Amino acid sequence: MDKSRFLYEGKAKKMYLTDDPETLLLEYKNDLTAFNALKKDSLEGKGTYTNRISAHLLRYLSEKGIPNHFIELLDDRHQLVRRVTILPLEVVVRNVTTGSLCKRLGIAEGMTLPRPLIEFYLKDDALGDPLVTEDHALLFGWASEEDLRKIKETATRVNELLKALFESRGILLVDFKLEFGKTADGTLILADEISPDTCRFWDRASGDRLDKDRFRKDLGNVLEAYETIWNRLSGEGRA
Ligand code: ADP
Ligand code: UDP
Repeated sequence: MDKSRFLYEGKAKKMYLTDDPETLLLEYKNDLTAFNALKKDSLEGKGTYTNRISAHLLRYLSEKGIPNHFIELLDDRHQLVRRVTILPLEVVVRNVTTGSLCKRLGIAEGMTLPRPLIEFYLKDDALGDPLVTEDHALLFGWASEEDLRKIKETATRVNELLKALFESRGILLVDFKLEFGKTADGTLILADEISPDTCRFWDRASGDRLDKDRFRKDLGNVLEAYETIWNRLSGEGRA
């Protein structure tokens, strides 16, 4: 594996250029961050689970007709993806109230929403990823009307597909974050990762948190939770 052409290091992944200008090598790191990276740790084995889980889910979504950047899983820590220009928006989909939604609006935790809530956050660490409206995105040129229409349609479909998939494994998909980007020819596709680092998963039977909230809230057994998600998805230890 050629990692000589380093491109970028983020909080959870590193990226490298490949011989094909439209293909990137993604390395999933063991680092865990929360609260805009104020809280940090590293957990041996974490990157293996986020890499495998994200590859599994993105492949599943491709098969179900959701165009995305995933190309190929290379090994435990690496995957090939299509290079895109990421839109500076984090798209959050919520089925159940928790996290920043409850904190910001004083809403009770754990309420099932009558329909999925889609929110947009500006992808800007220095500003703490503020909540923004679609009008902000349009007026400041972060996305076009057509981009927003396609993003909402895709996010809704991804939610339906993943909710059903996780339900069949005894897991409630509470909320998650998506990122979208444009390929060289201007096509908008789903990118980045879908894993316990970017989703909230609650065990249907026990209510146990099986995601990064175990790290955020010091609940312990972080790696075990990620392993449970992987085992349920890959067929071992199904509910
Ligand atoms: P962050 O930059 O927020 O710390 P990561 O460590 O996950 O996050 O780094 C991955 C970076 O790569 C993110 O900024 C993400 O938007 C970007 N990215 C994800 N998929 C692609 C892609 N296919 N092409 C280009 N950039 C991507
Ligand atoms: N999320 C994410 N990256 C972010 C912010 C949120 O992946 O920078 C995910 C998070 O894991 C959760 C969902 O988006 O599944 C909603 O997060 P929330 O807005 O409640 O924020 P938090 O409580 O994590 O600050």
